[in-house]
Amino acid sequence: MTATLIDGKEFAARVRGQVAEHVARLTADHGIKPGLAVVLVGEDPASQVYVRSKGKMTVEVGMNSVEHKLDVDTSEADLLALIAKLNADPAIHGILVQLPLPGHLDEDLVINSIDPAKDVDGFHISNVGLLGTGQKSMVPCTPLGCLMMLRDHHGSLSGMDAVVIGRSNIVGKPMAQLLLGDSCTVTIAHSRTRDLPDVVRRADIVVAAVGRAQMVPGDWIKPGATVIDVGINRIDAPEKGAGKTRLVGDVDFDSCAAVAGAITPVPGGVGPMTIACLLANTVTACCRANGLAEPEGLTA
Ligand code: NDP
Repeated sequence: MTATLIDGKEFAARVRGQVAEHVARLTADHGIKPGLAVVLVGEDPASQVYVRSKGKMTVEVGMNSVEHKLDVDTSEADLLALIAKLNADPAIHGILVQLPLPGHLDEDLVINSIDPAKDVDGFHISNVGLLGTGQKSMVPCTPLGCLMMLRDHHGSLSGMDAVVIGRSNIVGKPMAQLLLGDSCTVTIAHSRTRDLPDVVRRADIVVAAVGRAQMVPGDWIKPGATVIDVGINRIDAPEKGAGKTRLVGDVDFDSCAAVAGAITPVPGGVGPMTIACLLANTVTACCRANGLAEPEGLTA
């Protein structure tokens, strides 16, 4: 491996430390404790794990964590009523509705019912529009984490060629907006992109957010480029024993690390940054709600 490893686990611990310091100051100087409400509908096992770990880390940085676990057959009206209650609650500064929602619930309707100022996932249409027009917004956590790691590694990103593979609303599109905001020349690639290897080979920065295990091989990577691997894919790992599995990203780590200048691992790269940025967004939302200075370096 020749690439520098961008350690998301270590970086996320640093971000959580900054958040904790800011929370401590808010509490000591202003008597304010930021509060994050997480709403989970149903019993999807992966969602339950995420919600548990979000709650634990929220408390660890000194914030209030409120969890609402609703039955899988909760009606849309009941869910919207809960969100309206949380919107009106001055002790709640961030609201996150864990996705995906059960099929009978309209995700867009539910997300757009959250007060945009409390929308710590950054998925509300107002926040999407504010980000797209370069205005102050709540920024989706995963792309924000990627941006923080890129800024930390490079300093300025101005003028760099960036390719984002994937055009989802939660990762690919906001990632591209953020890179554009930092003056990169941005290409968004997707499943219909012609000659993807050639497109990727031109990039100084590659962000892979596809959901296909080890899809990007090292010979697509420009020597010295920075590779941010958002993908989380579980594959069989017979080397660990019968029936065992392991997590891999969207890039083939070994061959890419041999060519890249820097690379994030999976696990331990983008994943831990996502929760750290959720906490950062909550403290930012709390500061904005109270007209107080925002923590530096924790927003786009
Ligand atoms: P989506 O499935 O919503 O989007 C995937 C994108 O990849 C689509 O735009 C799709 O193109 C594109 N794509 C699919 N196949 C190809 C291909 N062969 N070549 C080029 N592009 C392709 O996924 P998400 O954005 O939600 O997530 C992407 C990955 O990131 C997943 O592995 C997910 O688990 C992970 N993830 C990780 C997070 C973290 O915290 N680390 C957080 C969120 C997601 P098209 O639009 O044309 O179909």
